Amino acid sequence: AMAELPALARGNPIDGAYSRPTGEISAEAMSRALEDRQFSVVYQPKVVCDGGMLAGFEVLARWHHPTLGEIPPDRFIAVAERHDLIDELTAQVLDQSLQWFARHAPESRPPALGDPVTLSVNLSARSLRSHQLVETLTSRCQAHGVDPSRIVLELTETSAMEDPVASLDMLTRLRMKGFNLSLDDFGTGYSSMLQLVRLPFSEIKIDKSFVMEATRSGEARSVIRSIVDLGHSLGLQVTAEGVETAETLHYLQDTRCDLAQGFHIARPMPGERALLWLQRHTEK
Ligand code: C2E
Ligand code: CA
Ligand code: CA
Ligand code: CA
Repeated sequence: AMAELPALARGNPIDGAYSRPTGEISAEAMSRALEDRQFSVVYQPKVVCDGGMLAGFEVLARWHHPTLGEIPPDRFIAVAERHDLIDELTAQVLDQSLQWFARHAPESRPPALGDPVTLSVNLSARSLRSHQLVETLTSRCQAHGVDPSRIVLELTETSAMEDPVASLDMLTRLRMKGFNLSLDDFGTGYSSMLQLVRLPFSEIKIDKSFVMEATRSGEARSVIRSIVDLGHSLGLQVTAEGVETAETLHYLQDTRCDLAQGFHIARPMPGERALLWLQRHTEK
């Protein structure tokens, strides 16, 4: 369920954040919020399906409006994209999460236990067209002392494919800097297999709409199984998001899906809580 917006329900825009009672967020409200640092981040663990070892964290943006409360990303990301504010939002998300990650990633797993944990960051379609992107990402990583190989950049299927030629160029440059690329919400877009093969992704994420249906729907299970097989035949790591039950996790283990993420494992949490979760998780 979306965060509650009581002011909206009453059709009573407060503080100019909404231009209409329907809930449209204005560019002014958003850019003021960026200036006032009203955005924070939460972290959701991603674990190995088989055994549950921590593989990494995905960082998700949160907006705490002083009077309206929590505004969910589904409402503000599109506004930021439309009004050219997304690069600033990405920069703030990166700074907060890289600082946290640089500080706590080393203690999250002994290096002897395989690949180090990663930090997954969502990138918007708009950013792929920005000439600053490669420079912004590499310089922020450098400033925080995080190697790009520890970062996974998540792109949605539709956004990655909007302009295949330009995307290929940008994604290749990011890949050459060492960043890992993940195709988010896989199965919901319109990309052809050919584009998937041509673009330098190292991971696909099965969209939660399929995963959440896995226990109820044979069709959803067929889709999941085919995506896992497709991913593996292309040498990609496959992550399932939206894992809400133990039964779903067992099904994913059976299909040999690599990684899992979802409320059954952990909800997105502020940095402090994520560390507590990690402590309990590693003691198990
Ligand atoms: P996404 O990248 O597909 O992220 C997964 C969404 O599913 C998150 O919603 C997460 O809280 C939610 N989720 C995780 N596990 C479960 C589960 O088991 N069940 C259900 N029902 N949901 C689950 P959230 O945080 O509301 O973010 C929504 C979308 O907003 C994200 O979808 C992403 O596309 C976008 N977004 C969030 N933060 C950022 C950001 O910093 N930059 C950009 N460009 N987009 C962002
Ligand atoms: Ca994502
Ligand atoms: Ca997703
Ligand atoms: Ca999504």
